[in-house]
Amino acid sequence: MNIRKKLYVALAAISLCAFGMTAQNLQSASTYSKMHSDLLAKQNRVKDQIRVQEAQKYAADLYEECEPEPDIYTEGWESNLVNCYKDANVPNTKVLDVRHYVMPIKGNYVTSHYGYRPQFGRTHKGIDLRAAIGDTVYSAFSGRVRLTRFERGGYGFYVIVRHENGLETVYGHLSRFLVKPDQYVKAGQPIALSGNTGRSTGPHLHFETRFMGYAINPEAIFDFANRCTHTDSYTFSKSNYTKARDYAPSKRYAAAKKSVAPAEEKEAAKKNSRDNKKDQQSVTASTRKSTKESRDDSRSTYKVREGDNLTKIAAANNMTVAQLKKLNGLTNDNVTTGKVLRIK
Ligand SMILES: [Zn+2]
Repeated sequence: MNIRKKLYVALAAISLCAFGMTAQNLQSASTYSKMHSDLLAKQNRVKDQIRVQEAQKYAADLYEECEPEPDIYTEGWESNLVNCYKDANVPNTKVLDVRHYVMPIKGNYVTSHYGYRPQFGRTHKGIDLRAAIGDTVYSAFSGRVRLTRFERGGYGFYVIVRHENGLETVYGHLSRFLVKPDQYVKAGQPIALSGNTGRSTGPHLHFETRFMGYAINPEAIFDFANRCTHTDSYTFSKSNYTKARDYAPSKRYAAAKKSVAPAEEKEAAKKNSRDNKKDQQSVTASTRKSTKESRDDSRSTYKVREGDNLTKIAAANNMTVAQLKKLNGLTNDNVTTGKVLRIK
């Protein structure tokens, strides 16, 4: 049977049906009117049903989107380690909400930046903020206290708070705790008093920001000079983690300055608002200060390495063996590997 024939048969069937129905259901106008309204009512119910179904689907989708993350206060919670995520599956990237922050201390002066310290052969995994003994230390974000501990050779008295955004913050060299482990805290809640405990050469607050154990440079998140965060979110990325470690405002400023063409620079300089000038001055000041400090640091001490002797160390630091011995109160020529000597 070809298509046209099929169509004729179908049409004939439909008209027969329609005729049959008309013949059977020939009724009064009022009955029709009632049937019509019944039909409308039925139709409405169908519509309602669709609406309900749609609403249910929407709610389901919505729930799926807002499905709560696994409890943030479980992974490694019982651990006594600063990095309790050693066996954890750390995601490659994670966007961290840093909108609801409070600066950890009233001051904004960074006395030591994040980064590798060649003279000590280790990385400074946080930053040092100027603080006097007894200054209030505030929780940077809302969260729950994981640890309050003491470490003689390092952090001294320290507090670790885990936050809802997935970060953990570490506060070191404290003189007093104001919170207890497992306690929930709000952003800006006093958690401790600053001090000079542990491996510290003067009162200051050592501050770390970590994501699942990875110590992120706090200056990549916070703009300490302006007491704010750089942006509303910080994107943690395992692959550019090392790059983020090198982050320093002074470097960024230098790079930005380089990228401005000389003519534009003049124009830009004219247009500079007072705020901008202030900003630049503070950046320049902090650069000057940090360069000075790192120079002081690298010159004031020296860690004895394998195969070193006093003659070698003295010569490398433009001093005599006698001067070196006097400075360090040494009575003989023996030095042990790892000992930190004063060279200034
Ligand atoms: Zn520090």
